[in-house]
Amino acid sequence: MSVSIQSYQERFVEALGADLVLLGEEIARYCRDWHGDVTTGAIAVLRPRSTDDVSKAVRVCAELGVAIVPQGGNTGLVLGATPDAPETQVVLSLERMNAIRRLDVDDFSAVVEAGAILSEFKDKVEQAGMFFPLALGAQGSCRIGGNVSTNAGGINVLRYGMTRELVLGLEVVLPDGSVFDGLSTLRKDNRGIDLKQLFIGAEGTLGIITAVAVKLTPMPDQAATALLGLNALDDVIALYRRARRDCCDLLSAFEFMPPLAFTLAREAMPDLAMPMSGDHTAYALLEISGSGLVDVSDLMERFLEGVMGDGLVVDGVVATSKAQARNLWLFREGMNEGQAKRGPHLRTDVSVPLSRLADFVRDAEKAVYDALPECVCVSYGHVGDGNVHLNVLPPGDLPRSEIDTRIYKAKKIINEVLDRYHGSISAEHGIGRLKKSDFDTRLSEVRRKLLTAAKTAIDPDLRMNPGCQLSFARD
Ligand code: FAD
Repeated sequence: MSVSIQSYQERFVEALGADLVLLGEEIARYCRDWHGDVTTGAIAVLRPRSTDDVSKAVRVCAELGVAIVPQGGNTGLVLGATPDAPETQVVLSLERMNAIRRLDVDDFSAVVEAGAILSEFKDKVEQAGMFFPLALGAQGSCRIGGNVSTNAGGINVLRYGMTRELVLGLEVVLPDGSVFDGLSTLRKDNRGIDLKQLFIGAEGTLGIITAVAVKLTPMPDQAATALLGLNALDDVIALYRRARRDCCDLLSAFEFMPPLAFTLAREAMPDLAMPMSGDHTAYALLEISGSGLVDVSDLMERFLEGVMGDGLVVDGVVATSKAQARNLWLFREGMNEGQAKRGPHLRTDVSVPLSRLADFVRDAEKAVYDALPECVCVSYGHVGDGNVHLNVLPPGDLPRSEIDTRIYKAKKIINEVLDRYHGSISAEHGIGRLKKSDFDTRLSEVRRKLLTAAKTAIDPDLRMNPGCQLSFARD
């Protein structure tokens, strides 16, 4: 351990007290990314209990010239919460700030601290008869502040929007330790520039979110879930358009998956029973939900009668209980674990206009198979958002360097096709450190100028999550 790290550690303990500062082996789990691809280190992990603690910690970091990597649940998939310069960075974990400060049923809103685990917050909201619609595979571990900082998406975006659309207000500790108190729960507030938007999706590069005011909706107490087999991805898109019209705003999720989803999910969960034949070219998993006087089951029944009668859907199964619905979703979720079991692979998170989604998948997969016939493409995602995870699995028995070469090549090929479709290299996961160079090379001059202006105005000493999103030079 270098002397300077030790002296930083002593200064942190002295200024903040031992309770707020983790050192030594205890910090290992904060310095490893979710997939375990990257293991790094940090001077210390700071674990504040209050906004005042965060403010104090940030001021001490400023005095020492130490950079800060904010961390929520550390489930991000782009290395945004993983330090990249252990000797000059601390991790600031929000995990102890998890209180619900207010839950107002009459106002359809809540104020929650940034370190609350998403599923725990959702459960408490549900106990009050309300619903917080953000839903993603990592919800048992990710934290609200991380969700806001990545502007997380998930399966309910088509009905409720991205996290940005669920946020009413923010409390943020700025890089000089001052507190931006923007925790309003007003629905409408057009008093000039909406500053909170700057921090949503900023991945901790502008400040530390300590609390969030969010919109709630009435709890949908009815849901109907169906897994449907179709002859082509184009048919899945046609089905989505039809569902949007026939089921209007009651459509709450619409995912597509390849037949390989069944194999992958069962590789991860061998006991999972097949719900239907795995022989169709494409599958759609959709959910309609609602509350009050609507009859969701009847709507699903009439919708399916129509689309099966027309031959658009060739096979299908409808869940008649919560447990069955959960089983259908396990195929969608288990697919990720199945891919992980096959070894290191390329994970993408791209988006294109909905009208071009099927063509994009066809073109990108063909380009990958032409160049890398030994690899397997797995394309799935959130249809309504034009969001595709086009993942590429190299043969697991190759040496690691050969696998990495294929991952790199496949990413380049997919991004080239994506650029032709004017798509986004990050639909929902953010940039972090993983996608930084792909982001950087695609920035226009004007966008770079605006991003630099925002960064240097708010964080002039460049101490907030340096190395994440973009590298800025101090002049
Ligand atoms: P972290 O990983 O801890 O941090 C993410 C970024 O935010 C980092 O840059 C960090 O510095 C910053 N940050 C964290 N907290 C704060 C804060 N309080 N203030 C300022 N900056 C902060 N994402 C989706 O969008 N949709 C999905 O469907 C989805 N599914 C997933 C499924 C699985 C199995 C996994 C592992 C991940 C998935 N993700 C998904 C990615 C991830 O869960 C989300 O990005 C999530 O929002 C990250 O939250 P977190 O608390 O884990 O943040």
